[in-house]
Amino acid sequence: MSDFLPTGIELSYLAAASLFILGLKKLGSPATARRGNLLAAIGMLIAIVATLLNQQVLNYEMILVSILLGSIIGTFMAQKVEMTDMPQMVGLLNGLGGAASALVAIGEFWHSLGAPEALPVDSLMTTILGVLIGGITLTGSLVAFAKLQGLISGTPMTFPFQQPFNIALVVIFLAGSGYLLASPGNVPIFLGLVSISLLLGVLFVIPIGGADMPVVVSLLNSYSGLAASAAGFILMNNMLIISGALVGASGLILTDIMCKAMNRSLTNVLFSAFGKGATAGTATARGESGDGQRLVGDHRPIHSIDSEEGAMMLGYARSVVIVPGYGMAVAQAQHAVRELADQLERLGVEVKYAIHPVAGRMPGHMNVLLAEANVPYPQLHDMEDINPEFERTDVALVIGANDVVNPAARHDRSSPIYGMPILEVDKAHHTIVIKRGMSKGFAGVENELFFQDKTVMLFGSAKEMVAQLVSQVKQL
Ligand code: NDP
Repeated sequence: MSDFLPTGIELSYLAAASLFILGLKKLGSPATARRGNLLAAIGMLIAIVATLLNQQVLNYEMILVSILLGSIIGTFMAQKVEMTDMPQMVGLLNGLGGAASALVAIGEFWHSLGAPEALPVDSLMTTILGVLIGGITLTGSLVAFAKLQGLISGTPMTFPFQQPFNIALVVIFLAGSGYLLASPGNVPIFLGLVSISLLLGVLFVIPIGGADMPVVVSLLNSYSGLAASAAGFILMNNMLIISGALVGASGLILTDIMCKAMNRSLTNVLFSAFGKGATAGTATARGESGDGQRLVGDHRPIHSIDSEEGAMMLGYARSVVIVPGYGMAVAQAQHAVRELADQLERLGVEVKYAIHPVAGRMPGHMNVLLAEANVPYPQLHDMEDINPEFERTDVALVIGANDVVNPAARHDRSSPIYGMPILEVDKAHHTIVIKRGMSKGFAGVENELFFQDKTVMLFGSAKEMVAQLVSQVKQL
């Protein structure tokens, strides 16, 4: 019996780890993502139950109260959080993961102080690593959360000699770690290491602009996995080691995908203070010149239409490609968009959706919203698949997207988004853009698409405009 329990626990961990891997695999496609999430959740349940069976658990009451409290808070947050606020929620959860790992490391050190023998060198090294990664993840994630939530300014915060100062802190940390390894019970040095780790987290994130926070959140997600792995080594728990490694690896892969989709290197994201001085979101509309033409900012004309004209263009087209962006997400227009597509299909129009990898504010943002509106998965097309089709498309309907359709990314070397792969809606026969005004997108740059001859602007909030289009198309 005494041998059976540990073997059973290890086998359950193996089953849980397999479910995590299967779940991750299924998260790779919108069609299977829900099932993937469920599989991973079942894996987590198995892991928790197996861990609770462990004979070393000292206090079941406290664990059960914590699980209950955590479940209530988690359910409440999951119900309440808006899809557009998801990056900061993930940021906060990463921070808590980092805090948990750092606390495990601190607990292990404290525990060793009362023990007859000092911590062996390898355990002490893992503890120091746990404190470092956990501490950075905690405070870095809190700063990222505060920037995304607008609690502090999103502008990159820099000060003279910032990088040398950071490097000096890292050197002091390494020296302190060496000292602690030589005298393992030194509490002031240990507390110094904890403080430096927490400070490094803040210093790592403050010089990065709010615009790049989702990438930082993804990177910190990876760190929280590494911190969990470190905690797993401290506790000699295989489940934590494996799941931490999975989070660490998938977070890094996601960070890489996001950087590639923005055509930026990770070093550029972390150290270039992107967005300093950018005027993202400033309206530049100046006045009307009649005939549906407006003069904006630099007096270039744009062509604006009303929903009736828009409905005619869409209803009499053979093919329409819908390009959703951040504005569709904020307006929660996805259900109206689905209804519009249904109405157009009723008229025999072929409707497809073009999904840019960084449309919106988090990876997969558009997929999640469109899945919520039950848009059939085969209608969703990745950038690489849909781009060659725009030349044959009658109307590209851009709904609240801006940067991801900006042709400047292809040719304007001076543009901050130069080189970013875009959805080539400007190659369609006609393009209708729904947005409220002439505000810039996330990157804070003008979009030349809006001034092109083949482009017409349909000004208004996405949800209302699409609803108007639906009722107009119904009358065709
Ligand atoms: P953008 O942020 O470029 O543009 C969104 C546009 O939506 C704005 O120009 C705004 O114009 C319009 N808008 C806002 N509210 C509404 C509304 N209620 N109705 C209609 N339109 C509205 O969005 P994109 O999706 O094109 O691009 C995403 C950007 O985010 C990219 O620059 C990407 O690099 C960046 N990013 C994305 C990440 C991700 O993982 N997805 C992560 C990090 C960055 P107006 O105010 O005039 O209506």
